[in-house]
Amino acid sequence: MRLSKSFIPTLKEVPNDAVVKSHILMLRAGMIRMVSAGIYSFLPLGYRVIRKITDIIREEMNAIGGQEFHLPALNPREIWEETNRVESFGDILFHVKNRDYVLAPTHEEIMTYHARNVLKSYKDLPQIWYQIQTKFRNEARPRSGVIRGRQFLMKDSYTFDATWEQLDYAYGLHDKAYRKIFNKCDLKYFVVGASSGAMGGTGSEEFMVKSDAGEDTVAYCEHCGYAANVEVAVSKIEGKKRESKSEELKEISTPSVKSIDELCTFLKIGETQCAKSRVYIHDGKAVLILMLGNDEVNEMKLQKVLGGTIRPAHPDELKEMTGADAGSIGPIGFKGRIIADLKLKDSNNLFSGANKNDFHIGGIDLQRDVKNIEYEDFRIVKSGELCAKCEKPLEVFTAIELGHIFKLGTKYSESMKAMFLDENGKENPLIMGSYGIGVERVMACYIEQHHDEKGMIWDKTLAPFHVHLIALNMRKQDIVDACGKIYDELSQVGIEVLYDDRLDAQAGFKFNDADLLGMPLQIIVGEKKLRENKVEVKVRKSGERFDIILDDLTIKVKELLA
Ligand code: ATP
Ligand code: MG
Repeated sequence: MRLSKSFIPTLKEVPNDAVVKSHILMLRAGMIRMVSAGIYSFLPLGYRVIRKITDIIREEMNAIGGQEFHLPALNPREIWEETNRVESFGDILFHVKNRDYVLAPTHEEIMTYHARNVLKSYKDLPQIWYQIQTKFRNEARPRSGVIRGRQFLMKDSYTFDATWEQLDYAYGLHDKAYRKIFNKCDLKYFVVGASSGAMGGTGSEEFMVKSDAGEDTVAYCEHCGYAANVEVAVSKIEGKKRESKSEELKEISTPSVKSIDELCTFLKIGETQCAKSRVYIHDGKAVLILMLGNDEVNEMKLQKVLGGTIRPAHPDELKEMTGADAGSIGPIGFKGRIIADLKLKDSNNLFSGANKNDFHIGGIDLQRDVKNIEYEDFRIVKSGELCAKCEKPLEVFTAIELGHIFKLGTKYSESMKAMFLDENGKENPLIMGSYGIGVERVMACYIEQHHDEKGMIWDKTLAPFHVHLIALNMRKQDIVDACGKIYDELSQVGIEVLYDDRLDAQAGFKFNDADLLGMPLQIIVGEKKLRENKVEVKVRKSGERFDIILDDLTIKVKELLA
């Protein structure tokens, strides 16, 4: 394609509303433009990448026996009412004014609608149905460009099976296909949440990448692949060692000491000699949660252990219960249930609040001094803690979901009455799975992982073009002739060339655009080298440059791209 005739409106400046790197680069490279919050147009250059991603997805979905559908985005609301999801989607669902339609945020309902009309017998199963289609979600805070759009492209597939073993198999096929797709796209990803493995289990896995644009915080072990949302993540519990001699309890005056750090400074002790108290109200009753040093309480873990309703105690409730304010609460003399984090198990010689403002207590022995104390894992996992599986350090960071595979079971088939007859002639609900990949997210996350300060860096697989051909001076006929010839020869062997044939653009300007757009190879055609029958080839990723004799160019380009 000739740049002089193309619509690739590159920008020199960083657009002021963009903060995430992929968003900035896609705007600057003229790949996308915003139409309204969370609604983007893909311009020709960006759409070429989308097409390449969807080609890869199609190939791998077809390889596992998937059959491609194209379902309507505009759905009768009544179908969505069968599963009660008009209500459960709430504000995320777009409604069409004056008509009983919704814009589909996903397609379980419509696929199940088709399945119930045709999949009547175990002989009709298994089935893998998929599509690559636009979804609509009224995301509350669309940001980070196409990573979280209100309209986006999703590959969604649905499996229908007669037995739970068959579901496990279909799920396994998707797991493998997803790994292939993300590997082909050269994405560094990890998988969160293993399937339960149990028959009929409702396992699910999320394929995620590290990203500043992510809204989930995960703990990840590079070494063994352990990955979990911090809400549930665990690490190796390195308990505080019990000292051989327990000291006596002693009250210490600690005027205006409120935090663990202040206490450590004031008493010249280490953080791990302190136990921090947090009081929660659990179903109307006070519970004191004791943490080691500056460890924070993970309220999701707390909720899971305690059940019922939980909230932090208000300051006035604390005062009434203990006589003290937040920074001075402790286990000694506390009336109510006390649960300590597992790291504190049976510790002694601890310092904690005295339930009296401006005082702390030292020499606390949890075994000796706190009757009926319980222990649980309540900690928020932090970077650097050791992996519970392999004992290598964990990293905690924000991440974003690229894809999701999910054993639905019979949730939708039951509510929509999609039944089939099994081998014994008995009627059962279809056993389903659903599996999604965000196409724009694949593209944006690729850019997040493959760029430098000058711009994007494409590999051959997803690159909008393989070669960026730069004519240094279009007013010189020998350059124009040589470029024309190179363009034709490379195109003939299937190499996609973007040809910068702009008449009045300066060389520096062309170089900057080439680096910004990031095609794998740049071929630079200038007068001086041409006199020796040579052109320069630059590898965008490594910055390496080669002078190549014109006659060898096609072979060399093929080699470098391979
Ligand atoms: P998230 O938690 O990030 O909102 P989700 O769990 O709602 O995602 P799914 O319903 O599992 O997403 O959809 C399948 C895939 O569609 C996701 O893995 C993601 O890649 C993509 N996706 C979901 N929401 C959006 C969006 N608003 N913009 C772009 N892609 C999206
Ligand atoms: Mg999901």
